[in-house]
Parts: sequence; C-alpha cells; structure tokens
Amino acid sequence: MLEIERLRFRYSRHGPMVLDGVDLELNDGEIGILLGKNGSGKTTLFQTILGIRKPESGLIRFDGEDLLKMNRKERARRIAYVPQSIQFGALSVFDTVLMGRISYFGYKAGKEDEEVVWQILRDMRLADYAARNVEQLSGGERQKIAIARALAQEPRLLVFDEPTGNLDIANEQLILAEARRVAREKGIGILTSLHDLNQALALGDRFFFMKEGKIRHEGGAEIVTENVIFETFDAEVRIVETEGKKIIINGGYKP
Ligand code: ADP
Repeated sequence: MLEIERLRFRYSRHGPMVLDGVDLELNDGEIGILLGKNGSGKTTLFQTILGIRKPESGLIRFDGEDLLKMNRKERARRIAYVPQSIQFGALSVFDTVLMGRISYFGYKAGKEDEEVVWQILRDMRLADYAARNVEQLSGGERQKIAIARALAQEPRLLVFDEPTGNLDIANEQLILAEARRVAREKGIGILTSLHDLNQALALGDRFFFMKEGKIRHEGGAEIVTENVIFETFDAEVRIVETEGKKIIINGGYKP
C-alpha cells in the first residue's frame, strides 16, 4: 500500500539531512511502528507522508500512485492523521467526527456523511456521546474522538504520532486496543511512533528502527533485539521471552 523510496528532506538548504534516504514499505492492514531517539526524524517523516513537508528527493507511492503529486483531497481519502491533542473547539462529538468528512462533502454534509459518522460512533461505542461537547471529555475520550474523526475520512492508512504520549495506563490500553481493532477489522494500515518498546511489541506487525534520518533495521518482532535497541537508543535493555512473547526490561537503570 505505502512505498517510500530514498526519501530525503532537510529544513534548510544547507542544513543537515533530517531524512537521509528513507526506505519503508507497509502493506494493507499492517501496523508499522517507527522507533528512534528524539530528533531521529520520525515526526518529519510523518509530515512528508501527510504532505505537510515537501521532500528534496525520493518517492512516496500509495497503491502505486505518486502521493507527492496528489492534492489535499486525494490524499485525505487515503491517509488520515490522528494528532496527539487537538483543539476541537466547542463542538459536539458528532459534529467533530463529521468534520473528518470535509474532503467528501465540501460545504454541507449530506445524509450519507451523517450515516458514516453514526456507523463509526456505534462501532467505537461512542453513540451515547454524540451530543456531548468534546471539551468536557477526558484525555482518553478525546483521543478516541480524534481516531473517530480520522476514520470518518475513510482512509486506508492512519498516521499517529505518539498516540499514547499524554494518556494514563487505562486510556493507553484503550487507544492501543482501538488501533488494533481498526487494523484487524477494517484492514486499515497504521503507521505510528511509540516510545514504550513493550507497547510497540504488543501492537506492531513491523518495526522500523530509525537513526539519524535513516531506517537502520526493519522487520517483524524477530528484529527487536538487545543489540538493535542499543544501537538505536544507546540504551541497555534485557529481553526475555515468555509464552513466545518478548518482554523488554530496562537494564540501564543503576540506583
Ligand atoms: P523525532 O520526531 O524523531 O523526535 P523530528 O522529526 O521532530 O524527530 O526532528 C528531526 C530533526 O529535525 C531534529 O534534529 C530536529 O531538531 C529537526 N527539526 C524538527 N523540526 C524542525 C523545524 N521546524 N525546523 C528546523 N529543524 C527541525
């Protein structure tokens, strides 16, 4: 579905390459997780995929079509962004989610747009919230509304930047479960960054370790090793396996 080749980007003409030849591939319904230190270029990569930043060179294809040549509307029907926190304004949950369909209806929403929104709210068990003002909701609930709004775009790929950054553990679980449901039930691809490596292992199908603007390691859970983590983060961890699953133990902490 998504193919990125030799993508290069820098913020200023003579500045350092922030994306220095990124190659990345993601299939339909796959959950891909970008892992890397702060400043390694994750957000910048998301922004080029979303069309917010123009790369200096390289290719981004979506189902074989050149994403860099698409206009906003064409892109919005393929890729939706779920921000970590959004200023919703004082709208109801229903209207907020309906805003996600703006690339379909232009000025005035039709019956079909409203039906799409109701369906999403029902699927996400948010129908009872439809009339509530988003400003009165908790952080986790708002994040769920942000996902609902992105889904209203009927995209094939959701891009999340650090989706659990501001959430407590219960809401974190809620959002990760929702992301998994969307990928598994709807076949929507997900590309996200996560700081917590155990969360990443629990959620991801494919992992992309990024360092200094390049993807250095890429693959399934088998590539998540102590060495790769050390190389990427300069952090020592220990990995143990129980019930066929890897658990990462932070080994660098010395009291
Ligand atoms: P990450 O999301 O992995 O933390 P970013 O993509 O935010 O990394 O940043 C990558 C690099 O680009 C960093 O060195 C950062 O300082 C730089 N950078 C990010 N945004 C800007 C900007 N608007 N102008 C100039 N440099 C930036």
